[in-house]
Amino acid sequence: MRLFVALVPPPDILDELEEAVLPHRDAVPGLRWVRRDLLHVTLTFFGEVDDRAFDRLLPRLERAVGRHERMTLSLAGAGAFPGNGAHARVLWTGLYGDRRRLARLAASTTAAGRRAGTLQDKHRGFRPHLTLARSRQPLDVRALIEPLAAFAGASWEAGSIQLMRSHLPGKDHDQVVYEPLKTWSLRHSSGGGGAGRSASGGPQGTP
Ligand code: ATP
Ligand code: MG
Repeated sequence: MRLFVALVPPPDILDELEEAVLPHRDAVPGLRWVRRDLLHVTLTFFGEVDDRAFDRLLPRLERAVGRHERMTLSLAGAGAFPGNGAHARVLWTGLYGDRRRLARLAASTTAAGRRAGTLQDKHRGFRPHLTLARSRQPLDVRALIEPLAAFAGASWEAGSIQLMRSHLPGKDHDQVVYEPLKTWSLRHSSGGGGAGRSASGGPQGTP
């Protein structure tokens, strides 16, 4: 099965994004826009995972996610892969806020996959983004990147991530289908905010 780890922004964040993008959609014909219900941030792409690797992967992923805290994120701006957008295959919006925390989380889910034997070494570094549109042919999307540079979405608290199974388009469906297999919660931040002081007493700063 084809698997990846996804972080899905909440509906109000996607509403805001859609509102910002819609007026510009026709600026570049030929793009395949990602359907609203499929928008996500990929933390780790595992690709094909067989049943045995899947059994090794699940507990490792669960442990990995449990070590990380919730984080504040926001969407803003736009960019392309590859390069500056003159020959793009992917148009994306960027992720801001606790980017380091997000990168550490992605590194952990990727490491879990590697230990479970689901990832080859070709895995590239994590570049936090949310894909807005794709093109099979390299396409000049700079006419979209320019107006979207001004987009700055509200921030949200990301509290969970999902293990998704991807069903690529085939005989019975002409669009990709993502099937959430697992949802794992991130830890509540230890830096105050209702959890109370821990008995072991963390480094509590005094003003
Ligand atoms: P389609 O391939 O039909 O356009 P999709 O790209 O949404 O659909 P998948 O190819 O299963 O579906 O990808 C699932 C997620 O993993 C997407 O976010 C995609 O960008 C990412 N992804 C896919 N292939 C790779 C890869 N080789 N390396 C990194 N991320 C990938
Ligand atoms: Mg794909």
